[in-house]
Amino acid sequence: MKWNELLIRYGEISLKGRNRNVFVKKLRNNIKDALSDLPTVKIKPERDRMFLFADDKRDMEEAIARLPYIFGIQSFSPVAKCEATLEAIKEKALDVIGADETAGKTFKVEIRRTDKSFPLVTGELQQEIAAHVLKSFPELIVQMKKPEILLHVEIRSEGAFLTAKVHKGAGGMPVGSNGHSILMLSGGIDSPVAGYLMMKRGVSIDAIHFASPPFTSELAKKKVMDLAEKLSSFGAAVRLHIIPFTEIQQTIVNQVPDNVSMTTTRRLMLQIADQVRAEVGALAIVTGESLGQVASQTLESLTAINAVTSTPILRPLVASDKLDIIEIAQKIGTYDISIRPHEDCCTIFAPSNPKTKPRLEKVAYYESFSDFAPMIEEAVSNRITVELPLQQQDEFEDLL
Ligand code: ATP
Ligand code: MG
Repeated sequence: MKWNELLIRYGEISLKGRNRNVFVKKLRNNIKDALSDLPTVKIKPERDRMFLFADDKRDMEEAIARLPYIFGIQSFSPVAKCEATLEAIKEKALDVIGADETAGKTFKVEIRRTDKSFPLVTGELQQEIAAHVLKSFPELIVQMKKPEILLHVEIRSEGAFLTAKVHKGAGGMPVGSNGHSILMLSGGIDSPVAGYLMMKRGVSIDAIHFASPPFTSELAKKKVMDLAEKLSSFGAAVRLHIIPFTEIQQTIVNQVPDNVSMTTTRRLMLQIADQVRAEVGALAIVTGESLGQVASQTLESLTAINAVTSTPILRPLVASDKLDIIEIAQKIGTYDISIRPHEDCCTIFAPSNPKTKPRLEKVAYYESFSDFAPMIEEAVSNRITVELPLQQQDEFEDLL
């Protein structure tokens, strides 16, 4: 079966005015990027839907395989085109229905006529086509309400267009349509999921990771690079900044009492993340924090940590249960990377008894014994930046 085009339906129907234009433009560019190696693909956006054409059959099949991973698409359908005559439509209808499993499925024909000069009225046309299809596929069960197979026939002056199968899209908004943020990416389970959710909401990301060699290993770094690479398969390339954090971490251990050292560590990470954020032109900082999960994620701790900046900190997992987070991590393919045993700097330097209600004045007082500002500058300027190119999504078919 050769499909002539794909009909792509948008999500977020409530989008209005200029926001809609940004959405459509971004979606078009993201689809183009994701399919850039398929030479015959062409995209034509309209206000409420988009069409994708591919002359080459393999390009079309590849496009169908990749579209389910591009955020901003609600659903899409392969379209077959034929001459706008009853005979041609009947014949094409058999091809379209035969392209998928029909056993025991419910079925209905729906007609839309923009070309009013067509000889038959809608009701007659519907009956003719349905009867013809049922002759070849007697196992189909006609059902008017919510049929499993809806054969939609649109008759325009330039021809008849038939669709039946609806592929589910990834939903969300096109990556980049809602600005750019910096993601604090540890090697844990939560932060990659936080990054994924923000990308799904249309935010493109740079990732930042704090490494404390030789206490943290090369394998821990590799793990974070693999996580960033996985995130690059959701519609936009991710850049990863690796920050040398050993000196700061050792200063903290030597100078700040054990029970508030985690708060100070987080405050310094956040200040560094904020500087990198400004340099890369991002507007917000994203973390994988979830309320109450550990001592550093109580409201008191989050308040003490937040006090170092007025930049918005986005915590998409703040109200999520760990099991729900794990489920997403498994679906998006980050879980198996996150559970590799290599520890990150926070785990290695974690105090045994951190305060769940650190007092900001106390924390600030202990920090005041060192001048962290030059250390922060140095860490920011000595960072290593790795570009992870856009990845093809192929292994995780069960994303939806
Ligand atoms: P995760 O699974 O994301 O590591 P977690 O439950 O282990 O989260 P923490 O280790 O307390 O929680 O970290 C909280 C958040 O701080 C992380 O989600 C991440 O955004 C950030 N973070 C922690 N460690 C690092 C690190 N080494 N580099 C970058 N960000 C970090
Ligand atoms: Mg962690």
